[in-house]
Amino acid sequence: MAAQILDGKVMSEKLRREIGERVLCLKREYGVVPGLAVILVGNDPASEIYVRNKEKGCLEAGMHSETVRMPAETQQEDLEREIDRLNRDPRIHGILVQLPLPEHLDEAAALARILPEKDVDGFHLLNAGKLMTGGEGVIPCTPRGALYMIQQTGVDLTGKEAVVIGRSNIVGKPMAMLLLRENCTVTLCHSRTKQLAEHTRRADILVAAVGRAGFVTADMVKPGAIVIDVGINRVDGKVRGDVDFDAVCGVASWITPVPGGVGKMTITMLLQNTLEAAERTARRG
Ligand code: NDP
Repeated sequence: MAAQILDGKVMSEKLRREIGERVLCLKREYGVVPGLAVILVGNDPASEIYVRNKEKGCLEAGMHSETVRMPAETQQEDLEREIDRLNRDPRIHGILVQLPLPEHLDEAAALARILPEKDVDGFHLLNAGKLMTGGEGVIPCTPRGALYMIQQTGVDLTGKEAVVIGRSNIVGKPMAMLLLRENCTVTLCHSRTKQLAEHTRRADILVAAVGRAGFVTADMVKPGAIVIDVGINRVDGKVRGDVDFDAVCGVASWITPVPGGVGKMTITMLLQNTLEAAERTARRG
């Protein structure tokens, strides 16, 4: 039987309606409009598209959106001065530095400069540490969206074997931590993993965050597994995931498509993180 589709578009639309309603409540009760600032250094075309989508998402949800465009030759101190300004700005509840930054800039130092409570990407060391130690921090958007999709299957995650392929700080590692928090038994695989398929074939939940089109083939998947495809790969002008979708559909019980899967959820979770940051600020008074 073909796998059921976890539709990121449908889930995002529902979540964004709920976010919009909570934005209205916040305005009514506290006079607070959630605000997101995105800093874009240089003019990478892919980043330009992401930033435009973020602006559009904010406006549709009734949020305040600000994009700070800085030239490619921006110096570290100028970037950090801009972050400091946004840290102080009471209209801004979330700050995001669009990655990758030009090579001469220190990405880690820039991310560390953002106030942890305004770090809506969840990349600040304090938020990463909270995720690691079980504290209440900001969760990175893509893994948060992927977990939400897994939860929509209604499957009890406790004790399930979860395998994540990819160990980046923005996807793989936080994804593994989130699944661990849900009481899965987690295996984190990477390019040096030996006999990868032996790991993946044990997975009740398989998350692919590799960056290689069609990398996960049907023979790597346990029958009935939930397969989450984080990959976004451009092949011959088309967007493809890390999973061989057509073949894996015949083996898995649930699967996310690309496009229309996890990618749709990422900006939605960014809006959610910004809303929650604004709610925390408003309630603190
Ligand atoms: P990275 O390049 O940072 O990480 C890729 C990971 O895959 C690394 O840990 C690497 O291992 C591992 N890997 C590479 N080759 C193999 C292999 N042959 N076998 C096993 N593991 C391997 O990528 P990201 O985590 O940033 O992104 C992953 C994918 O997700 C990309 O396609 C990206 O475009 C997409 N993405 C999608 C988002 C969305 O919104 N849907 C958001 C962010 C990313 P090692 O560490 O050993 O090098």
